Amino acid sequence: MPNITAAVAAVADRVTAWRRGFHMCPELSYHETSTGETVRAVLAELNIPVVRPPNSESFYAALDGSVPGPATLLRADMDALPIQEISGQPYKSRRDGVMHACGHDAHTAMMLGVATVLSGLRAEPHTPVIFCFQSAEEVSGGAVELLDALRESNLEIGMAAGLHIWSPIPTGQIQIIDGPAMAGLYAFKITLTGRGGHGSRPDLSIDPIKPLCDLVLRLSALPSRLISPLDSAAVHIGCVEGGALGNIFPDTASLQGGVRFFKPEHYRLFKDAIDNLTRAAASEWGVTADIQELSSLPPVINSPGAVSRARVAASHTPRLALHESQTPLCASDNMGLFLREYPGVYAFLGCGNREKGAAWEHHNARFDIDEDAMRLGVEFLCRFALQPLS
Ligand SMILES: [Zn+2]
Ligand SMILES: [Zn+2]
Repeated sequence: MPNITAAVAAVADRVTAWRRGFHMCPELSYHETSTGETVRAVLAELNIPVVRPPNSESFYAALDGSVPGPATLLRADMDALPIQEISGQPYKSRRDGVMHACGHDAHTAMMLGVATVLSGLRAEPHTPVIFCFQSAEEVSGGAVELLDALRESNLEIGMAAGLHIWSPIPTGQIQIIDGPAMAGLYAFKITLTGRGGHGSRPDLSIDPIKPLCDLVLRLSALPSRLISPLDSAAVHIGCVEGGALGNIFPDTASLQGGVRFFKPEHYRLFKDAIDNLTRAAASEWGVTADIQELSSLPPVINSPGAVSRARVAASHTPRLALHESQTPLCASDNMGLFLREYPGVYAFLGCGNREKGAAWEHHNARFDIDEDAMRLGVEFLCRFALQPLS
């Protein structure tokens, strides 16, 4: 194998500069216009053609392989968050109220690093590599149109991989989890409608508040009733709305929540159970219920072949060790949609470094990364892509 470590070192400064550029100009989900333009300009310099689905900020670029065979898909996300950054860094966000607080700036920069390194190694034997740049990950968007476009292309995809930079893990470690790595999500809103009236005469009204409270408790108890204690799931209800004053029964009351789960079949199980339970409670209390799915994502499930390929790539990357924990994350990520389509792996690259101020959790206004982690990520992804598919 060519000297990948040296090739990565040669591009490391550019990766840092790209990341800082994206960090200073963060863009919210579905609005990654200038980020996308920067990325496409670099890909054009590298002569890697870009395919962009209509009406989308997501796009992919396919690097030809020097040997035939199914392609390796690598995915990065590009969006920032509506957070006001607190930072003394020279590369602090220049946009009020918008910040790269999840590290997607680093994902995009690392992917450009990988594209640069691999396009410089065109003579080396490897199958095609598809670089996916995804819009709107933070709001569960941007992946479907990319997957549709890939399905419509003639590209044969053998395996997918993605990296999420991860501040709870120190720089120099990578977490590669067997099987389920992140939770699936079913997010919902339930609106109950009764008949409002004066608080002094509950008998003359149909109060939607009491059934709503009843539902909050019953829904929260669902996991223990529905699934084995050896599996895991959580129901969270974080928003309850209804009424304006203590002596008025409102017409309607609503709640918003979600379920996190690790088995794909649990989506249907919970969705149906929430429907049935809500309808039963509504009829008991004499209100009508409207149940709306806000979003859903499958769990992120790593496949055994991709996990071994990733562990080999990590073991060949100098100064990168495997993080020992195999505990999955309860958060969700639409990399799950890619891994439902193709066997693959989503790994967590440590970027925590207290001395450099990179110890805040993701989505915190003080979040930052140890930029030295990025070169490890670039090398890991290059080595993953260059391994022959077995
Ligand atoms: Zn995030
Ligand atoms: Zn993220």
